[in-house]
Amino acid sequence: MESVTALIDKQALIHNIKVIKNKAKDSKVIAVIKANAYGHGAIAVANALKDKVEGFAVARIGEAMDLRRDGIKNPIFLLEGFYNDDDLPFISKYDLYTAVNTMEQVEAIERVPFSKPIHVWVQVDIGMHRLGSNDKSTIAKIKSRLEKCDKVIKPLGLLSHLSVADTPAEVEYNKTQISNFFDFAKDMQGDLCLTNSAGIFDWNESHTQWIRPGIVMYGISPFDDRTGEDLGLKPVMTLKSNLIAINKVKKGDKIGYGAYYVAPKDTTIGIVSCGYGDGYPRTAPNGTPVLINGRYVQTAGHVCMDMLFVDLGEHCTDKVGDEVILWGKGLPVEKIASLCNTIPYELICHVMPRVEFIFG
Ligand SMILES: *Cc1c(COP(=O)(O)O)cnc(C)c1O
Repeated sequence: MESVTALIDKQALIHNIKVIKNKAKDSKVIAVIKANAYGHGAIAVANALKDKVEGFAVARIGEAMDLRRDGIKNPIFLLEGFYNDDDLPFISKYDLYTAVNTMEQVEAIERVPFSKPIHVWVQVDIGMHRLGSNDKSTIAKIKSRLEKCDKVIKPLGLLSHLSVADTPAEVEYNKTQISNFFDFAKDMQGDLCLTNSAGIFDWNESHTQWIRPGIVMYGISPFDDRTGEDLGLKPVMTLKSNLIAINKVKKGDKIGYGAYYVAPKDTTIGIVSCGYGDGYPRTAPNGTPVLINGRYVQTAGHVCMDMLFVDLGEHCTDKVGDEVILWGKGLPVEKIASLCNTIPYELICHVMPRVEFIFG
């Protein structure tokens, strides 16, 4: 009886890639596997997908180097670009595709010696105000300097990111962002790469040569009003634990730290061997569902570091050792996230190293 297990379902991952490709039939897929593949295990996910997608994307150069050292040969995109001169020889050596966000980065490419020319994507700001310039003349300067530089492979790619493709109240702003992108694209000869999961599903006009799905690959919806299942996806991660103790309590008994749950009637409290030290959110309120023996029961009391409480009901037949599903198959992580006032991205990224990962 392992304390907490994250089952990573390879078939579900492959299914989700098929659904994504079907949404954007003419696009090449860059699977976003930053942050340890959203907590699923970057090396394992990359190996499962290396023949099914064209490329991978990460945020940090260390993440990219780990993939190359493990033998991943596909294009690997650095979505944040690079921030130290010392990174450039590695970008060249490991054949990484880097975003270029600033003139300082252009100057570094010109100045720092490295052997093989590198692939670059000019990053433009179309409305998020995070990375890249929104100024046409700055972008034109960046572009012309990079085009003159023989350490850069031509043609240059164009990269940007949508900030409200999942936000119903910002439909007009999303349209503006897409049109800003295609405005910048008029001056570019190379490939375009714009869209994330939400754009892939809801904004066909954001599809370009390359698409960058993240959360949907893992079977999870980027939208508040739909689950992954509603989108035809299958959850890849199922987080499981077990009951390790069962306590009969009386009406009025106070459960756990701070007496946050008071038994509303005589009942049975189950202790599950999973807590915030495993990545289960402490912000989960009383009443957050878990799945035990085919039924939903509710958490009762504050989540502890290593355990949490559930109210099994007075006449339950559950036993010590029984399996408990915290999220995944049968219980969408989207639902847990919304009860915790966060997004599913955060919950899956926070699964801790002490959890045992089973990839199959
Ligand atoms: C994380 C990220 C993505 C993937 O976003 P999802 O919403 O998970 O699809 C795509 N592009 C960039 C630049 C990102 O940072």
